[in-house]
Amino acid sequence: MAHINEDFLKLPGAYLFSEIAQKVKTFKDEHPDANVISLGIGDVTQPLAPAVVEALHKAADELASGATFRGYGPERGYDFLRKAIVENDFIARGINLSEDEIFVNDGAKSDTGNFQELLAKDVRIAVTDPIYPVYIDSNVMGGRTGVLGSNGHWSNVVYLPCSAENGFAPELPAEEVDVIYLCYPNNPTGTTLTRKELQKWVQYALEHDALILYDAAYEAYIQNDDIPHSIYEIEGAQRVAVEFHSFSKTAGFTGVRCGYTVVPRGVAAKTEKGDRITLNPLWNRRQSTKFNGTSYLSQRAAEAIYTPEGKKQIQATINYYMENARQMREALTNMGFEVYGGTDAPYLWVHTPKGTTSWEFFDTMLHKAQVVCTPGVGFGPAGEGYVRLTAFGQHEATAEALKRIEKLAKHKEN
Ligand code: PLP
Repeated sequence: MAHINEDFLKLPGAYLFSEIAQKVKTFKDEHPDANVISLGIGDVTQPLAPAVVEALHKAADELASGATFRGYGPERGYDFLRKAIVENDFIARGINLSEDEIFVNDGAKSDTGNFQELLAKDVRIAVTDPIYPVYIDSNVMGGRTGVLGSNGHWSNVVYLPCSAENGFAPELPAEEVDVIYLCYPNNPTGTTLTRKELQKWVQYALEHDALILYDAAYEAYIQNDDIPHSIYEIEGAQRVAVEFHSFSKTAGFTGVRCGYTVVPRGVAAKTEKGDRITLNPLWNRRQSTKFNGTSYLSQRAAEAIYTPEGKKQIQATINYYMENARQMREALTNMGFEVYGGTDAPYLWVHTPKGTTSWEFFDTMLHKAQVVCTPGVGFGPAGEGYVRLTAFGQHEATAEALKRIEKLAKHKEN
């Protein structure tokens, strides 16, 4: 019989969102008439922009005709999309990147999870706590994390706690690390790093020969000019950072599936002997072996985001969600909750009432208000005592959820 890769067996229980889905399903089975509103999983609710839909139709028609049909595309993505990405997301921001540093993918989850494959088993990784679970879980699968302690921390991982006390801006690691995962605007806390704070990380990586894996999936939600959209806005970052982007939240592509990864030519890691290996060709080798490209339809759809109409339309949807975030912040703060995030990100990080754990508050919200939130502890031990709420709901549902939470909060007070 084949032996299993036992690293997979180290993974704790279910993936966070599967566990939440199971609890919600059980509640709905027991209360079939309940109108449950989800402010939990970070999925979008608004339809695709008309420019995107038009591009999808057009691409489907091309595939329907023998004269314009396309089969396998280039593994790195079509030139038309990589060109649009470079011009709009980088050159327009004064960042000089070339198209061969862009790898189009089927969304940021795949590459944030897969990139660790290029790294040795014994590299020391650092993650913020709380954290988007994919970074840790993929490193568990890669056999890099050691054992899970009763404190919820893996023995070979360096944790960088993010709390209200440090303004959710992590301190530099006290011990030497090789790889640092950063995600800004942050999922789950909805907080950001200023240019100056991000500079500190790039400086650290340059001085310590460390690699930064920077997840910018929510950059389109940034409103404040002092917050960088890309780590490459920081001098020197093209020598130390790989950056992940996603069209999922930028343009409602959670179902369409498309994103991209930037692997600058200057980023390297070393062999045991000390030779520096450039990661760009290595990632290309990995992708051309394991990935056959993102669908032509998705890539044409993504290209449409960068047209003048596409830009306006996706911005209108982002504004729609950010209006939810504004109302949520205001209402929850007025109810007496301690609220973070939600100004440059579609997530709010809400302190649970005193003495209530994340899961207890999740249960209360589900059972007493029929509102689904995400328990903060599911993103790491430092998330205990918080829940994450998303602004991706429809206005009416979000307003209704806020009314119910207010009723619940008032009831608790009495
Ligand atoms: N990175 C972060 C921080 C996310 O929150 C998500 C999705 O929620 C992803 C990556 C994955 O996005 P995609 O839909 O592009 O795979």
